[in-house]
Amino acid sequence: SSQAPQLAEVDVSKLVIQRTQTPGQLKKEEELVFGRTFTDHMLAIEWTAGKGWSAPRITPYQALSLDPATCVFHYGFSCFEGMKAYRTSSGELRLFRPEKNMDRLSTSSARIALPPFDPKAMVECISRFVALEEKFVPKKRGYSLYLRPTMIGTQPTLGVGPPGSALFFVIASPVGPYYPSGFKAVSLEATSKFVRAWPGGTGDKKLGGNYAPCIVPQQEAAKRGFQQNLWLFGEEGYVTEVGTMNLFTCWINKDGVKEIVTAPLDGTILEGVTRDSILALAREFLTKEGWIVSERKYTIKEMAEAADEGRLLEAFGAGTAAVVSPLRRIAWDGGVGGTQRDINIPLQKGKEAGPIAERIWKWMEERQYGDVETSWSVHV
Ligand code: PMP
Repeated sequence: SSQAPQLAEVDVSKLVIQRTQTPGQLKKEEELVFGRTFTDHMLAIEWTAGKGWSAPRITPYQALSLDPATCVFHYGFSCFEGMKAYRTSSGELRLFRPEKNMDRLSTSSARIALPPFDPKAMVECISRFVALEEKFVPKKRGYSLYLRPTMIGTQPTLGVGPPGSALFFVIASPVGPYYPSGFKAVSLEATSKFVRAWPGGTGDKKLGGNYAPCIVPQQEAAKRGFQQNLWLFGEEGYVTEVGTMNLFTCWINKDGVKEIVTAPLDGTILEGVTRDSILALAREFLTKEGWIVSERKYTIKEMAEAADEGRLLEAFGAGTAAVVSPLRRIAWDGGVGGTQRDINIPLQKGKEAGPIAERIWKWMEERQYGDVETSWSVHV
C-alpha cells in the first residue's frame, strides 16, 4: 500500500540558534533610515516538496547564495510582509496582529505555487527571533523594529512550473516614525493610465511583482509635484488605494449622514492590517457619534462632488509604515470627457490632519505600544 509521506509542519520546538561572533549595536535613534541597517541575525526556514518544512534556523545576518537559474530571479516567485515590533513604556516587546500578516503571507505564497503554512507556528518563530534581537528594538515612542518576512522559490531550474523548494526568511530593521515632527499632509495624482490591481488579478496579494511596476507611475507623479498615486479603477473611476496604503474618505454622504468609507475587498486593493484595524476602531467608537462605517465602491467623481458641495471632510491613507497619512489635495483629469481639476481636502486650521485621522492615529498607537491592552497586541 502506498502511503502519502508525512509533510513536516513549521515547528518552533526544532529552532536552532547560531549567534553572531560580531554583535552590532542599535544606531542612535535620529540616524535610523528606513530599511538601511539590519539587526545581527536573520530567521530562515527551508521548504522542500514532498518533505515539508525543515527546522527553523536563526543565524548571523548573511548574504544568500543562489544559483543564477533559481526561479525567483526569472519568474518572480516572491512575496513578502511588512510588520513591526514595538516596545511598551515598561520595556516589553509586542507584535501588532502578527497572525494577520502571516495569514496574508501564507495566502500570497499559495497564489504563486509556493507553500502555505500555519500562521500561528510562524508567529512563534518570529517572536523568538524578535526576542533574540531585543536590543535592536528602539526605546523611544514612535520608533519600532520593522520586520520583513519574505518567501521565495529556490528551485534552480528554468522550467516554468511549481517550485520544488522554497525559502522563508525574516530580516529586521530598526525604524523611526514616519512623521518625526508631526503629520505632513500629502498631494496625490489620481492615476487611471496605469492600473495597479484588478478583479481576478494578483494586486490583492503581497507579491514582489506587484511593486516594481509601480515605481515608474510614482516617478511620473513625482515629476509633476505629487507624493503618491491614487490608483483609480475602471471607466467609473473607482477609488481604490494610495501608493502602498489603503484609503479612507470621511464625508457627509448624499443622504446627509456622516460616513467613513473605504474600498471593498474585490481584488482591487491589498487587504491591509491597518485598514482592518481602523474599520474595527471606527465601528467601536465612531458609530456612537452618528457615523456610518462602510466598505463599498465609490468614485473619484463622488469625491469631487462632495468637495464642491462642502461635504468632503477628510481623506487619509492607512498602512503599517505611517499608520495614517492625511491628504490635502488630489489632482484628477476629470475622467472620460472631463476636464482636469483639483479636489481639495479640508485640514484643521493650522494643522496637517483632520480630526478623525488624528484620533484614529492615537487609537492605533495606544494599541500598538500597549498603552491600551487588546488581543491585537501580542507579547514577544
Ligand atoms: N496597500 C498596499 C498596496 C500595500 O503595499 C500596503 C502595505 N502592506 C497596504 C495597502 C497597507 O497594508 P498594511 O496596513 O497591512 O500595512
